[in-house]
Amino acid sequence: MGVKFIKALNGNVIYQCRNEKCLTPVATNFDLISRNFRKRGRSGPAILFENVQNVIKGAKTKKRMLTGEHIVQLVYCKLCGAALGWHYDFTSEGQMYKEGKFVLEVANVKAVSGSLQSVPFGQVTSIV
Ligand SMILES: [Zn+2]
Repeated sequence: MGVKFIKALNGNVIYQCRNEKCLTPVATNFDLISRNFRKRGRSGPAILFENVQNVIKGAKTKKRMLTGEHIVQLVYCKLCGAALGWHYDFTSEGQMYKEGKFVLEVANVKAVSGSLQSVPFGQVTSIV
């Protein structure tokens, strides 16, 4: 309902929602922590980010992973609602560096070259 405000992002690499009709920018290379982060077993490679934008978080849920049981919130694209990854709220011992961080699954996002000159950082674009 109503207007959704999508923030334009600047970076050398922009990670967008994979949905071809959406392509909302959700993160940049500046927010990237680890490209080799993996959620082993389930849905393949994933990327760990310090922060992501233009997303909404779902309810807190317990998630059992190989690294232990964590409390996470699923992360969805703010514009189209596609599931993109998750946010770590609380982690088990030894995994605390992940707390407050975001994981985007490679299968759900698309990396494109960005231009630092394209749009002023923080510019807000409205999409109905
Ligand atoms: Zn989307």
